[in-house]
Amino acid sequence: MGKSSILNALDERLQITTGGLHAKRGTGRHTTSSSTLHDLGGGTFIIDTPGIREFGLWSLDRDTLRDYFPELEETAGLCRFNDCTHLHEPGCEVKARVAAGEIHPARYDAYVRLSEEIAD
Ligand SMILES: [Zn+2]
Repeated sequence: MGKSSILNALDERLQITTGGLHAKRGTGRHTTSSSTLHDLGGGTFIIDTPGIREFGLWSLDRDTLRDYFPELEETAGLCRFNDCTHLHEPGCEVKARVAAGEIHPARYDAYVRLSEEIAD
Protein backbone atom coordinates (compact mmCIF):
# COMPACT_ATOMS: atom_id res chain seq x y z
CA MET A 1 0.00 0.00 0.00
CA GLY A 2 1.42 3.36 -1.01
CA LYS A 3 1.25 6.46 1.04
CA SER A 4 -1.51 7.92 -1.15
CA SER A 5 -3.68 4.92 -0.33
CA ILE A 6 -2.95 5.43 3.35
CA LEU A 7 -3.91 9.10 3.13
CA ASN A 8 -7.13 8.24 1.34
CA ALA A 9 -7.89 5.71 4.07
CA LEU A 10 -7.41 8.43 6.65
CA ASP A 11 -9.92 10.66 4.94
CA GLU A 12 -11.97 9.58 1.96
CA ARG A 13 -12.49 13.20 0.92
CA LEU A 14 -8.84 13.45 -0.11
CA GLN A 15 -9.31 11.38 -3.28
CA ILE A 16 -5.55 11.34 -3.91
CA THR A 17 -4.62 9.52 -7.08
CA THR A 18 -3.24 6.14 -6.20
CA GLY A 19 -1.05 4.02 -8.38
CA GLY A 20 -2.57 0.82 -7.12
CA LEU A 21 -1.25 -2.33 -8.67
CA HIS A 22 -0.14 -2.22 -12.25
CA ALA A 23 -2.34 -4.66 -14.08
CA LYS A 24 0.40 -6.23 -16.15
CA ARG A 25 3.53 -6.00 -14.05
CA GLY A 26 1.92 -6.29 -10.64
CA THR A 27 4.12 -3.60 -9.20
CA GLY A 28 3.09 -0.49 -7.37
CA ARG A 29 3.37 2.72 -9.27
CA HIS A 30 4.53 5.96 -7.72
CA THR A 31 2.09 8.66 -8.76
CA THR A 32 2.87 11.42 -6.31
CA SER A 33 4.67 13.98 -8.44
CA SER A 34 3.99 17.25 -6.68
CA SER A 35 3.67 18.49 -3.14
CA THR A 36 0.14 19.16 -1.98
CA LEU A 37 -1.27 20.37 1.30
CA HIS A 38 -4.55 18.79 2.38
CA ASP A 39 -6.78 20.42 4.97
CA LEU A 40 -8.60 17.67 6.85
CA GLY A 41 -10.40 20.19 9.03
CA GLY A 42 -10.16 20.55 12.76
CA GLY A 43 -6.70 22.02 12.42
CA THR A 44 -5.24 18.88 10.83
CA PHE A 45 -3.16 19.16 7.70
CA ILE A 46 -1.36 16.53 5.69
CA ILE A 47 1.44 17.31 3.26
CA ASP A 48 1.77 14.80 0.48
CA THR A 49 5.21 15.21 -1.00
CA PRO A 50 7.34 13.16 -3.38
CA GLY A 51 9.69 10.76 -1.66
CA ILE A 52 13.30 11.55 -1.03
CA ARG A 53 14.40 8.97 -3.57
CA GLU A 54 12.41 10.74 -6.23
CA PHE A 55 13.99 14.06 -5.32
CA GLY A 56 17.34 12.34 -5.68
CA LEU A 57 16.55 11.42 -9.26
CA TRP A 58 15.97 15.09 -9.91
CA SER A 59 19.35 15.97 -8.43
CA LEU A 60 17.70 18.13 -5.84
CA ASP A 61 20.10 20.47 -4.16
CA ARG A 62 19.61 23.36 -1.81
CA ASP A 63 19.01 25.85 -4.61
CA THR A 64 16.50 23.61 -6.36
CA LEU A 65 14.68 22.93 -3.11
CA ARG A 66 13.83 26.63 -2.90
CA ASP A 67 11.90 26.35 -6.16
CA TYR A 68 9.45 24.03 -4.39
CA PHE A 69 8.77 26.59 -1.68
CA PRO A 70 7.92 29.78 -3.55
CA GLU A 71 6.41 31.39 -0.46
CA LEU A 72 9.78 31.07 1.26
CA GLU A 73 11.63 32.34 -1.79
CA GLU A 74 9.40 35.43 -1.96
CA THR A 75 10.40 36.26 1.57
CA ALA A 76 14.08 35.34 1.31
CA GLY A 77 15.08 38.75 -0.04
CA LEU A 78 14.11 40.30 3.29
CA CYS A 79 16.39 38.07 5.37
CA ARG A 80 19.45 39.74 6.89
CA PHE A 81 21.83 37.51 4.93
CA ASN A 82 21.36 37.10 1.19
CA ASP A 83 22.49 33.46 1.42
CA CYS A 84 20.13 32.72 4.31
CA THR A 85 19.05 29.08 4.50
CA HIS A 86 16.19 30.03 6.91
CA LEU A 87 17.35 27.30 9.29
CA HIS A 88 19.44 28.97 11.99
CA GLU A 89 20.51 32.42 10.81
CA PRO A 90 19.69 35.49 12.90
CA GLY A 91 17.45 38.08 11.27
CA CYS A 92 15.64 35.48 9.17
CA GLU A 93 12.39 36.93 7.82
CA VAL A 94 11.09 33.49 6.85
CA LYS A 95 11.27 32.27 10.44
CA ALA A 96 9.68 35.51 11.59
CA ARG A 97 6.76 35.01 9.20
CA VAL A 98 6.32 31.39 10.27
CA ALA A 99 6.15 32.61 13.87
CA ALA A 100 3.61 35.25 12.83
CA GLY A 101 1.47 32.66 11.03
CA GLU A 102 2.02 34.23 7.60
CA ILE A 103 3.85 31.17 6.31
CA HIS A 104 2.23 27.84 7.14
CA PRO A 105 4.33 26.06 9.78
CA ALA A 106 3.76 22.68 8.11
CA ARG A 107 5.29 24.02 4.92
CA TYR A 108 8.28 25.40 6.80
CA ASP A 109 8.69 22.10 8.66
CA ALA A 110 8.75 20.26 5.34
CA TYR A 111 11.40 22.67 4.06
CA VAL A 112 13.54 22.16 7.16
CA ARG A 113 13.19 18.38 6.96
CA LEU A 114 14.17 18.28 3.28
CA SER A 115 17.05 20.70 3.87
CA GLU A 116 18.42 18.38 6.53
CA GLU A 117 18.12 15.40 4.18
CA ILE A 118 20.09 17.25 1.52
CA ALA A 119 22.76 18.34 3.98
CA ASP A 120 23.62 14.74 4.88
ZN1 LIG B 1 16.02 33.38 6.07
